[in-house]
Amino acid sequence: MTKGLYVHIPFCRTRCHYCHFVRLEDPSPALRSRYLEALLKEILHAREIYGALEFETLYLGGGTPSILRPDELREILETLTANFKISEKAEISCEWNPGDGDPEMLSKPRGIRINRISLGVQSFDDNLLRTLGRRHSVRDTIETLEKIRGAGIANISLDLMLRIPGQTAEIFRDSLSQCIALKVSQVSLYDLEVHDDTEFGKMLGRGELSLPPEASHGEMYSDAIDSLAAAGYDHYEISNFAIPGFASRHNLIYWRNQEYLGLGPGSFSYLNGVRYQFARDVPRYLEKCEAGIWTNDVEDLLSPRDRATETFVTALRLKEGVRENIVSHLSPELPGRISELCKEGLLEISAGNLRLTRRGQFLCEDVFRFLLRKTQGAADPAG
Ligand code: SF4
Repeated sequence: MTKGLYVHIPFCRTRCHYCHFVRLEDPSPALRSRYLEALLKEILHAREIYGALEFETLYLGGGTPSILRPDELREILETLTANFKISEKAEISCEWNPGDGDPEMLSKPRGIRINRISLGVQSFDDNLLRTLGRRHSVRDTIETLEKIRGAGIANISLDLMLRIPGQTAEIFRDSLSQCIALKVSQVSLYDLEVHDDTEFGKMLGRGELSLPPEASHGEMYSDAIDSLAAAGYDHYEISNFAIPGFASRHNLIYWRNQEYLGLGPGSFSYLNGVRYQFARDVPRYLEKCEAGIWTNDVEDLLSPRDRATETFVTALRLKEGVRENIVSHLSPELPGRISELCKEGLLEISAGNLRLTRRGQFLCEDVFRFLLRKTQGAADPAG
């Protein structure tokens, strides 16, 4: 089975106002070298448990992997290739923040090389970038993109955010046009989520944060679908649009519910029917790796039926949807729930495949919650 490898690099220079990810704002050399040592120990431990696993994709996420020095990145990649089999044709992705990063990281002195960049652009409007607490400007985005291309990397994905305070459908359309003009290979959309433990969460609690209205949010999503399709992008997943041949192979592993190993704090793994998280945050991760405590913080053993149901639900994220005739093999509640969702106009059946409608894509989190809910206490799917 195809396997993906995720490695978390939890350092950031500052904290964005919406950030809820596992990360530290201390990229000091001392902490980085302590972290790298812990990560190398975890790699060796995974090798001991699973043997030399074979991977088709490697994804360096964060935090900010582009904060690494070339020698630090080299050490991580060399340790991974010494302990696992990473296919020669593997997709090697790295999240990159505009304005960051030493292009030398993208060169190939020896061994494997990053061949895909996911650039955290979020918006092409400097005011909105300031609102988000991002460190970069639109100019940084353009210059970084040129540097990445100059290093020979053509496969570049851009993240754009929706629901930013102060964002209008017009501002979003402008970001979209700039994105399309840059001819990147993929565009990923994200909705801003406000969590209590973030700057935005505190502002919301004080009544100081106002998000774009739902109608404007829906208009932005719909505009993105139409403009990106017109520009030749394939809407292959709810929030992802790629030039044909450039869909993210790593994320497809998640959406097809295939196996992956996640290394670093906060990362989840899914291997041999078990989904687990080794350590929930950075201090705990360092402590556990240094003491050699290899128990997991979270561990779920999935039954064959749970796995099949999850596979069904995650596959609904994809353009092709799911063969309708597999539904009867899943949990007994699903056929009734699917009929309800079809009646609500959130799901549709086309050529024997069950798929989300455009409205269903926009309300996908409600749809998935409804499909996966426990039998009692259900809410209306469109509610
Ligand atoms: S760069 Fe990403 S991980 Fe770092 S603070 Fe901003 S949102 Fe969080």
